[in-house]
Amino acid sequence: MRKINVFDTTLRDGEQSPGVNLNFEEKLQIAAQLDRLGVDIIEAGFPAASEGDFQSVKAIAETVKGSSVTGLSRSVKKEIDAAWEALKGGEEPRLHVFIATSPIHMTHKLRMTPDQVIENAVDSVKYAKQRFPRVQWSAEDACRSDIDFLARIIEKVIDAGAEVINLPDTVGYITQEEIRHMFTYLRETVPNIDKAILSTHCHDDLGMAVSNSLAAVEAGAGQVECTINGIGERAGNASLEEIAVALKIRNDFYNAETGLTLNEIKRTSSLVSKLTGMVVPNNKAVVGDNAFAHESGIHQDGVLKESSTYEIITPDLVGVSANRMVLGKLSGRHAFKEKIESLGYNATEEELNKVFKAFKSLADKKKEITDEDIFALMTEEKAGEAVKYYEVEALQVNYGTNNIPTAAVTMLNPEGETIQEAATGSGSVEAVYNTIERIIGKEVKLKDYRIQSITGGRDALAEVYVQIEYEGEEASGRGTANDVLEASARAYINSVNRVLNRKKWPRPKTEKIHV
Ligand SMILES: [Zn+2]
Repeated sequence: MRKINVFDTTLRDGEQSPGVNLNFEEKLQIAAQLDRLGVDIIEAGFPAASEGDFQSVKAIAETVKGSSVTGLSRSVKKEIDAAWEALKGGEEPRLHVFIATSPIHMTHKLRMTPDQVIENAVDSVKYAKQRFPRVQWSAEDACRSDIDFLARIIEKVIDAGAEVINLPDTVGYITQEEIRHMFTYLRETVPNIDKAILSTHCHDDLGMAVSNSLAAVEAGAGQVECTINGIGERAGNASLEEIAVALKIRNDFYNAETGLTLNEIKRTSSLVSKLTGMVVPNNKAVVGDNAFAHESGIHQDGVLKESSTYEIITPDLVGVSANRMVLGKLSGRHAFKEKIESLGYNATEEELNKVFKAFKSLADKKKEITDEDIFALMTEEKAGEAVKYYEVEALQVNYGTNNIPTAAVTMLNPEGETIQEAATGSGSVEAVYNTIERIIGKEVKLKDYRIQSITGGRDALAEVYVQIEYEGEEASGRGTANDVLEASARAYINSVNRVLNRKKWPRPKTEKIHV
């Protein structure tokens, strides 16, 4: 069976989704989970974009050991140099360099002739090869490029040392028949094509990213680029979990397989959804909450008698397990530590102490603690802000149907002083937010507020997600607590802290990268 390499770009293309802004700790956490999932290549970011991107790519390259780590660069020497500085500490430094090849991009964006584009592409691959053991080259907007021009430039960049040739459908425009033809034609036409792996990278503007990626695999692509939950700019990228499971379930047809540990899929999906704030729809293939729920009476009967009657994917395959009680009030630190490790976390003593304390206090209020609860507590701890500029110390809310909701909040400010304030609002959450805003002393605009429960039951943990605008910057934030008002306060403060943390490493408003 043919092995298909999985190239995950959740941290680069996925991170460009509107409203998504992952901090340093969150990127590291996602990279560690992608490594556990067994993706072949992690695209960790675009090192030349900003100091923040550079630092996170560097840290991921230095810590991830199983997957190969790559970073994106335009065909510009100083960007290739920046990528090298970020990636050189990795096990197998790999560069992803690109240039546009479609007439519309060459004429309007690059203002270069086709021959100049070839020269530039060859020069940058040669330059990259002086440092990087592995170089991938991408033809931006390949699917709207002249195919004979593509054949010409691909032959030259392979001669220059590129080992992977990626042909992105940058704008999500191609059809299955066309992409199959493109890959087949290039494999038949480019004389040195067997020296490189062909790669596909599809966008979902017409809802065809996954089927186009699979069509490319049929036509000989040996690498698929995708993101967890299909997140990405506009309608997003091809979703990793759908491609991986389609190749598994229909290997009789595709005769190809990935090296992924498929039962890590659900956890990876939940982690990315939680940290990015991009909710997975209930009916999403493979990872949606309804994907394995057989509600209809007739179906249910069939599934109970013989699961394959209506169920082509088993929940176990992708790591969906029933929510069982795993730990209780009397569980000790040792059992707790083992649980954390079985969930794939590598916690420091300090983190462990903090999370164990949070677990104990949760266990006092909630009868059954599930994997998902512990996962939520641990994620919260790991994804904590680098520096907590503001911290809530105490919160009290007065609410009744016949009076005005009033909140009193005690907070630590960045100077470490304790500040107390009170304010009213039309509802309890607004009263809390008005009070916190008063302590911060500057306007915090609330743009989105969402709440959900982790696991079922009346005693479930509440998770609040907010998006705010503060000091001219947008940020999202999350908070988890037993009580919805406490979770709301935490999410709000978390988002403000994120803005303040990000100000250390501002991302310059440069031209956006689309590959
Ligand atoms: Zn893309």
